[in-house]
Amino acid sequence: MSAVALQQDVAAGADRVRERIAGACERAGRDPASVTLVAVSKGQPAEAVAAAREAGIRHFGENRIQEAIPKIEQATGAGVEATWHLVGHLQSNKARAAANAFDVIHSVDSARLLRRLDAAAPAPRDVLLQVNVAAEPQKEGVAPEEVEGLVVAARGAANLRVRGLMTIAPIAGDAEDVRPVFRALRLLAERFSLPELSMGMTDDFEVAIEEGATLVRVGRAIFGERKP
Ligand SMILES: *Cc1c(COP(=O)(O)O)cnc(C)c1O
Repeated sequence: MSAVALQQDVAAGADRVRERIAGACERAGRDPASVTLVAVSKGQPAEAVAAAREAGIRHFGENRIQEAIPKIEQATGAGVEATWHLVGHLQSNKARAAANAFDVIHSVDSARLLRRLDAAAPAPRDVLLQVNVAAEPQKEGVAPEEVEGLVVAARGAANLRVRGLMTIAPIAGDAEDVRPVFRALRLLAERFSLPELSMGMTDDFEVAIEEGATLVRVGRAIFGERKP
C-alpha cells in the first residue's frame, strides 16, 4: 500500500472509532475526554504507527516484547512521540525489557512480576493488574479474589504506580453478552479506589465504555484485519 493510501485508511479508521467512542460516551453520559484510545499496533509496521500518530492518536499498544521493541525504536527514531502500552502477557524474565520500553504495563498478573518490574523500572511506571473476570481456563490474569493481595503488593512497590485493572472479555457473538464482565471489573476497581479500567477491544469497546472503561484497546477497527 502506498504511504498516502495507508495514511487515508488509518485516518478513516481512527475517525470511525472516535465517533463510536463519542456515541458510547453520549449514551452513558460520559465526557469523551475520559476515554483514552489505545491503538493496538501489533502485527502492523512502524509506518502504520506513524500514520496513526499523524491522525492524532497518541497511545499505542503492543502485545509482544520482541515485536514491539524494534518498532518503538523505529517509530521514535522517525520522530513519532507516543505513549506505549504493553497489553499482552509478560513473563518475569522479560520484565526489564518491558520496563525500559513501555510507559504503561496493562498485564501484571503476579507478585513475582511486580517485584521484577519494580526492581527494573528506570523511572516510576504505571501498571494495571490483569484480571481473568470470567475465569476462562486458557486466559492470563488473576482471579477476582486475588486482586486485593496484588493491589497491596503493588502499592508497596516504590517504582510502580498501580493505576487500575485490565481484562480481556470472552469472545462473544454479541457484545451485550460480556457486559457483566466489564461491570464486574468496574466494581472491583471501585472497591480498591483504582481510577483506570482497561477494557474493550474492536468487538466490544462501546459496551466497555458504557460500563466505565477509561482505556480502550482497539486494533482492527483502526488498522484493518491483521495479516496472519
Ligand atoms: C490484539 C489485542 C487487542 C486489540 O484487539 P482488536 O480486536 O484488534 O481490537 C486488545 N487487547 C489485547 C490484550 C490484544 O492482544
